[in-house]
Amino acid sequence: MFAFQDQRSAVEVAFTDRFGGLSTGPYAELNLSTRGGEGEDADTVRSNLGLVAAAMERGAPPGSTTGLDSPTEAGGAVRGVVAMRQVHGADVAVVGDDVLEADPEADALVSATPGWALMARGADCIPVLLADTDRGVVAAVHAGRAGLVAGVVPRAVAAMHDLGAVRLTAWLGPRACGRCYEVPAALRDQVAAAVPASWSETSWGTPAVDIAAGVAAQLDGVAAEVVDVGRCTIEDRDFYSYRRQGSASGRHGGLIWVRA
Ligand SMILES: [Zn+2]
Repeated sequence: MFAFQDQRSAVEVAFTDRFGGLSTGPYAELNLSTRGGEGEDADTVRSNLGLVAAAMERGAPPGSTTGLDSPTEAGGAVRGVVAMRQVHGADVAVVGDDVLEADPEADALVSATPGWALMARGADCIPVLLADTDRGVVAAVHAGRAGLVAGVVPRAVAAMHDLGAVRLTAWLGPRACGRCYEVPAALRDQVAAAVPASWSETSWGTPAVDIAAGVAAQLDGVAAEVVDVGRCTIEDRDFYSYRRQGSASGRHGGLIWVRA
């Protein structure tokens, strides 16, 4: 279920893989895409989200994961998982005390309210999680090639600062890596013009974009610490990949929340 978990002060961080859920066929097993997909059942996805929320409430079992400070303090009540309708833009939605009626259309969720598990989904795009662990301000960001150029991560950081965040830690989740994410040369140039660090070449010598390197450059001097979970979604079948699976691909997620 979780490819990675971390816990700092009251902040819990998790990236899911594709195992431990109820979805079948190409979506097997832990598809978190509320947008559904051909042959996927919305109730099944809701059940998957419930399983993830329950597991997060239990916290990380000692010794099973990486990066944990003090696993015995993990866990706590999750008020709910907040997702968003991701559109490859740079809009940020702030999650407060109000229960959101529907997923907001945004590519970043930011909150200073404990208990809401903010979720960014991906299948080659990168889920980026951010926190000021002392002040309890968190963000979940979906960044692909377009989001990188649009600056969705810097915009989420600005929204966190507005909520009182000062010292940021960032976690970069599984994504299509810079050695696999092949694009036309003109597209590579266009992205690199905006974010030079994203310029890359595939392992077979063709133009590519390195989304994680681009995001890391955008966080340089902004985040005090960047934890790169690594893992390439195209190479690693523990994850969903749009490039590898096509439109019948599920979504894994990055989730972050402040314990209530
Ligand atoms: Zn790769």
